[in-house]
Amino acid sequence: MGIIRKTRSVKALLNEFEQNKTALSTLDLVDRLNHQMNKSTVYRILERLEDDGILHSFTGQDGLTWYALHNDNNCSHSHNFNTHPHFQCRDCGKTECLSISIPIPEVKEHSIESVSLLLVGRCADCVS
Ligand SMILES: [Zn+2]
Ligand SMILES: [Zn+2]
Repeated sequence: MGIIRKTRSVKALLNEFEQNKTALSTLDLVDRLNHQMNKSTVYRILERLEDDGILHSFTGQDGLTWYALHNDNNCSHSHNFNTHPHFQCRDCGKTECLSISIPIPEVKEHSIESVSLLLVGRCADCVS
């Protein structure tokens, strides 16, 4: 943290994540923030926050890019060969980080730089 100047746009964007506690797609964010900033500003801030290690991104089932805050349980993304999977509900579309850690085995003669695991199913609200 600290590299990013906390402009009003950055604060507004981070606020969306703090209120939702789940992952948000770029489409959602552009939609929610469209009265405050334009699409390219949203994209630019997301990239900066990811570079700064505040957010991480992954690709959902729909091919959209989703962003989520790092939290204490799952900030091990690219630092070592542990990763947390993401979950997407096929009924309501809710997408979240799962606070479990999956060790990625080393693969002979390959250098692995990123891992992406997407679990698709039904969330607690939809399964009942
Ligand atoms: Zn659901
Ligand atoms: Zn995550």
